[in-house]
Amino acid sequence: MNLTVLDHPLAKHYLSVLRDKDTEPEGFRAAARRLTYSLVMEATRDLELTEHEIQTPLEKTTGHQLTPVVAIAVLRAGLGLLDAVVELIPSVKVGFAGVQRNEETAEPVEYYFKPPDLAEASVLILEPMLATGGSLSWAVSKVIESGATDVRCLCVVAAPEGVQRMNREHPNVRIFAASLDRDLSDHFYIQPGLGDMGDRLFGTQ
Ligand code: URA
Repeated sequence: MNLTVLDHPLAKHYLSVLRDKDTEPEGFRAAARRLTYSLVMEATRDLELTEHEIQTPLEKTTGHQLTPVVAIAVLRAGLGLLDAVVELIPSVKVGFAGVQRNEETAEPVEYYFKPPDLAEASVLILEPMLATGGSLSWAVSKVIESGATDVRCLCVVAAPEGVQRMNREHPNVRIFAASLDRDLSDHFYIQPGLGDMGDRLFGTQ
């Protein structure tokens, strides 16, 4: 399975803050940002680097520099992960993918897609809730059609149904999540989950 679940006390702590129904948007946004630091560190563990010579105050040594990284925030919940990505990778270029789910079929309906140049870049797709997998699979297909070859997905919570769909439709794409939850409700919410991520981030309902 192409899923890596974070195993870190800080990630567990911040995920619990997100799950708690009494966490207000301000605390929710802060916890999402803090949890995302761990997701980014894990997802970029094997990122390619270029080497160059640098001079320390004492001697010459080898320095390392990041190769291009692109983040694609799946609207709107992916915005909750974006600040942490930009903070850790200031050179990141950012694209946006707008997708709505058809409430009856839970299948994705595209309304916006604007990526930066994806050739040669490692692409991080920010889709916090991997439920049925429809939106994430759609977003991955879009970035691959646009030239991406190295695609990694950052999720807060994943459901087995979504992970299975990703394994079927995009077996070479790695998924990083803070938790693999139990299942989906009749309305396609992840259980135990954390509710609607977009609503909780932005105080809507
Ligand atoms: N999207 C959400 O925001 N929450 C879920 O549980 C599933 C999809």
